[in-house]
Amino acid sequence: MSIDWLSGLLLTALIFVPLERVLALHREQKVFRRGWLNDVIYLLLNAQLTMLGLGLLVVAIIVIAGWLLPVSLRAAVATQPYWAQIIEMIVLSDIGFYFAHRAFHAFPWLWKFHSIHHSIEELDWLAAARVHPVDQIVTKGCALLPVFALGFSDVAIGVYMLIYGWQSVLIHSNVRLNFGPLRWLLASPEFHHWHHSNDREARNKNFAGQVPVLDYLFGTLHLPRGRKPTKYGLDQPIPQTHAAQLLYPFRRPSASRPERRS
Ligand SMILES: [Zn+2]
Ligand SMILES: [Zn+2]
Repeated sequence: MSIDWLSGLLLTALIFVPLERVLALHREQKVFRRGWLNDVIYLLLNAQLTMLGLGLLVVAIIVIAGWLLPVSLRAAVATQPYWAQIIEMIVLSDIGFYFAHRAFHAFPWLWKFHSIHHSIEELDWLAAARVHPVDQIVTKGCALLPVFALGFSDVAIGVYMLIYGWQSVLIHSNVRLNFGPLRWLLASPEFHHWHHSNDREARNKNFAGQVPVLDYLFGTLHLPRGRKPTKYGLDQPIPQTHAAQLLYPFRRPSASRPERRS
């Protein structure tokens, strides 16, 4: 575990723990809620594993795109204004994320991996970390494919990654934030909390990671006004410990029957 990761964790905690006290969506929820230690382990261990897998994938994407795409196209992409590059990356990567995420809900063998993320019963800023490494690498890989293939500039990619990281923490956090008319445009805690809801009406909805418009276009949006989910998590039993959760998708089908499909 590097000092960078530890300081990143402390900085995020310093921002979000007080924010979740002041703007709590579920006031009764504790800072040290169920499974918090498990999610800290995910944050510290899986991050390294995922970075390694994604690093290899990104190198492969850059090399293959270098062969397949004309240099002039990549140069034209990189010389656009930064704001245009960042918007393009958010939209293109979220299209990749949307379909990968939807596939993880639709196919039983993929759902076994993704069900780990949906096993969280109390959502907060730490919840974003509980993702099986296979799920993380495949889903993020699909999101990052256009980012690294099309030749966006390093500065624009750096800003995009910062936005992606912070938005991912924010949408899981236990905060009541009103995005106003932007609620259709930018993924908010309100939007993603419905994705984790155990209410039947909300199942298999809100697949986007950053741009809810995609769910509107593909008929999977669920964003009722003035209401909030009452229960998160799954009906199916999921092991509680980190090691058992990593092994869970590889158990025999009879022991891990998928619960939800598109
Ligand atoms: Zn999901
Ligand atoms: Zn989530």
